[in-house]
Amino acid sequence: MHLLSIDSLSDDQIATILAEAQLWFDCNRQPSRNDRRLDGLTVVNAFFENSTRTLVSFAIAAQRLGAQVVTLPVEASSVKKGETLEDTARTLGAMQPDVMVIRHGSTGAPAEVAAVAGCPVINAGDGTGEHPTQALLDAATLQRHFGRVAGLTVAICGDIKHSRVARSNAKLLRRLGAEVRLAGPPQLMPDGASALVVDEAIEGADAVMMLRVQRERLEDELGDSPGEFLELYGLTAERLARAAPGAVVMHPGPINRGVEIDGALADGERSLILTQVEMGVAVRMACLDLLTASRRGA
Ligand code: ASP
Repeated sequence: MHLLSIDSLSDDQIATILAEAQLWFDCNRQPSRNDRRLDGLTVVNAFFENSTRTLVSFAIAAQRLGAQVVTLPVEASSVKKGETLEDTARTLGAMQPDVMVIRHGSTGAPAEVAAVAGCPVINAGDGTGEHPTQALLDAATLQRHFGRVAGLTVAICGDIKHSRVARSNAKLLRRLGAEVRLAGPPQLMPDGASALVVDEAIEGADAVMMLRVQRERLEDELGDSPGEFLELYGLTAERLARAAPGAVVMHPGPINRGVEIDGALADGERSLILTQVEMGVAVRMACLDLLTASRRGA
């Protein structure tokens, strides 16, 4: 079994991951939080794109379950000598790891790795494709805060076009019964999608998830006036006042303070941003547990 997209998971598997993540979240706050169920297994992290939260949380998650973690130093690897992704994947696979966690700038790269790896592969973000474990941790964070996901209204705002987080979240949160509203500047909406005005999307929402403006994937969509972004499309106190009473603020990180979100709101009492990070470890523990279960005979 691979975890390449939200569609890779059955409803039962999603329910299992979300329920188990809540247990790991509590367990991770205890002094004796280590579990040995992945003892003797090896997890390879191969991140061909930058990462802080996802890379470190997969490593912590694997280690808390007793696995050994090897991180491919991409910049110092044979990738820089021109080795193809498929050859790199076959090479890593020949070392008999038990899970490969892949992040890549090219959409579909984790699926290419999965075809030759010989072990379960987790997509840790591929180009503008998907980021399934981010969506799972977002759903688990909402569940923890509100006690449910079904019936919530979630506004996802910003650079939707380039966001694998938005794509995975739209699929998962809708499957779980939430209303998902996507909004952003017209030039940062996927082709063919109609742009909801950010103010309208936020109106009455229970959660407002802001997305980073992905400068590394932008061509000239924003023109030369990115400084106006906050005023026109970003999350300000005035815009947040339109949301439901008790609405929460989310962001997958990294944050561009003062661009898509006023920094004071990111740090404010309604922000769940660090809970999302904490939940990231718990959700990835649950995913690693699920994906290795058959190898362990569990
Ligand atoms: N960290 C998330 C991702 O890798 C969001 C972002 O980079 O803006 O997709």
